[in-house]
Amino acid sequence: MKITKITAVPISYRLPEGKTVTMGVGSTLKRDAIIVRVETSEGIVGYGESHPGRSPGAIVSLIHNTLSPLLVGMPATDVVGAWQRVHRMQFSSHGLGAGTALALSGIDMALWDIRGKAANMPLYELLGGSRKRLPAYAGGIALGYQAPQALAEEAQSYIEQGYRAVKLRIGDTVKDDIARCLHVRKVLGDDIDILTDANTAYTIAQARRVLPVLADIQAGWLEEPFACNDFASYREAAKITPLVPIAAGENHFMRFEFAQMLEAGAVQVWQPDLSKTGGITEAQRIAAMASAFRIPINAHSSATGLNHAATLHFLAATENAGYFEACVSHFNPFRDMFGPTFKIGADGCVEPPAGPGLGVEVDESIFDKFPAVDGPGYVVKF
Ligand SMILES: [Mg+2]
Repeated sequence: MKITKITAVPISYRLPEGKTVTMGVGSTLKRDAIIVRVETSEGIVGYGESHPGRSPGAIVSLIHNTLSPLLVGMPATDVVGAWQRVHRMQFSSHGLGAGTALALSGIDMALWDIRGKAANMPLYELLGGSRKRLPAYAGGIALGYQAPQALAEEAQSYIEQGYRAVKLRIGDTVKDDIARCLHVRKVLGDDIDILTDANTAYTIAQARRVLPVLADIQAGWLEEPFACNDFASYREAAKITPLVPIAAGENHFMRFEFAQMLEAGAVQVWQPDLSKTGGITEAQRIAAMASAFRIPINAHSSATGLNHAATLHFLAATENAGYFEACVSHFNPFRDMFGPTFKIGADGCVEPPAGPGLGVEVDESIFDKFPAVDGPGYVVKF
């Protein structure tokens, strides 16, 4: 079974007028995603999702014009070989770094979908896992900057759905962040896990003031206080308190950057995104490296049900799996456009889909509803 064709389809959704979610990376205007379709000589078609990296057209071009010519004709089940060829011929030199990681991620995911369909096995089984209950937190583009009361009400609405953990967006002013965190803890009580995400918006001085409060409210982690390559600040932040783990990884690409994170000794929770870091193949390598150091893998989620399904299968087959990031965004029609991929239970847990491969039935006619809009999806808050 050979790879015969690789196609990338960009899709976009503009948020309704006047509606946005604001967080450390800015205010959301639109959602973008790239669906990758891989066709084979035996007629099996696999689907994956590449993160658009704020430039969907660039990633689509990379897939069509640079990676596809490298991969068409290769055995469709050889995910390691495909990965290796892209690494050798693209990453190693003149390779556009993170952009290629995004592009490769969707192709790799589609190849795993093909492997599962060919074997008539759900991916969790193919990867060596089982259909187990996976703890989930209410995340995605939600719980953004707002008044403490409104934020607590939004958080409460997810608890009512079954979630036992929520992720608040911080990285605003220190004063407002502290007020929100204290209020939400008071309203939710002590049994809910409160996670926090600064989306790279803090300085080390701000982190010094916020982290003791996060320790007081027993926050589960502080995610991405700093830019992805600011390892010096990450190292400093890890010394502030042993009580709040520092998390990062959604903007770290391939095992090599996670190895740098390990060497910095500053990040205790790893969050690779299967649509960004190099696909399922690379996420497994990252998880294996983390497992030797007892670092949990709390994979970051992208936009569509394809990424969500892949992440659920991956977590169900990962020894050191942590939470699944469940997208609870009010403004993400991509989550359920092929039907719901996960359902939160009263136990705060979800399960991977049961069908072969990713277990997602893709109806391509739906793409016409979401024509691509190029350009970034956020406006800056500065
Ligand atoms: Mg994040």
